[in-house]
Amino acid sequence: MSAWQEVITPGRFDGQTVIVTGAGSGIGRATALRVAREGGRVIASDLSRERLEELVAENPDLGLVPVAGDISTEDAVQAVVGAAGGRVDGLANVAGIMDHFHGLHELPDEIWERVMAVNVTSVVRLSRAVLPIMLEAGYGSIVNVSSEAGLRGSAAGAAYTASKHAVNGLTKSAAVMYGRKGIRVNAVAPGGTITHIEAPMDSELAKETIAPLFGVVLPPAAQADELAASITFLLSRDATNINGVVLASDNGWNAI
Ligand code: NAD
Repeated sequence: MSAWQEVITPGRFDGQTVIVTGAGSGIGRATALRVAREGGRVIASDLSRERLEELVAENPDLGLVPVAGDISTEDAVQAVVGAAGGRVDGLANVAGIMDHFHGLHELPDEIWERVMAVNVTSVVRLSRAVLPIMLEAGYGSIVNVSSEAGLRGSAAGAAYTASKHAVNGLTKSAAVMYGRKGIRVNAVAPGGTITHIEAPMDSELAKETIAPLFGVVLPPAAQADELAASITFLLSRDATNINGVVLASDNGWNAI
């Protein structure tokens, strides 16, 4: 376990409204809390109403606005953007699900469709809804959560790997198209991180091909607040000159 301790930068998000998806657990929760502790008003989105209620109950003094719903649907997107009330300085697209490590020949339709809906369509829908607000303001910072599986073919199954490569593509396209209008769009690619994400390895093929690599190359897993540190840096104005990067936050896995 890392000896690193989170240190708050007071006021870094003062006056800002930041949308964080997946805020009920893991990396999204840590990101929502970091932004809120640093003065931001956080629109906290998650599928789980219960997790959001817990988040708010445990942190009654922070500016957390919970909005429950499936963020891959247009209804939930509209509810989240409505709660922001016409101002969105930052958007952290964190919500995501793993696949079951299926190879392409054995990939069930429902896993492909659900993984693409949550990991990709939600990023498309929410960014599409938020960008006009950012364009109007002439400022905005979007951070998409990718993965080590967005950098290589040996970290997950076909669906999750494809979804995170798509996230990188959306990030770079938007960075180019909106960069000159004051909007930065970046991604963070976490390595192994201790959260509640489920990653069952149901595939015999993956057990033969991918599992042995994990034993050789996997650096120690990070805590969720270490990922929040990377995400909030890119969300913050200190990342002023950074646009279109896919920042690996993975204890060096990307270099192996
Ligand atoms: P987690 O399961 O702890 O948290 C994810 C949260 O997202 C949950 O609270 C869940 O309810 C929510 N969520 C799922 N589907 C949703 C939907 N359709 N609408 C709204 N909310 C939804 O997982 P985590 O590890 O914190 O994952 C966060 C992100 O980090 C994901 O995009 C994941 O792919 C990525 N990631 C995680 C790891 C890791 O090792 N944990 C590694 C690389 C990338």
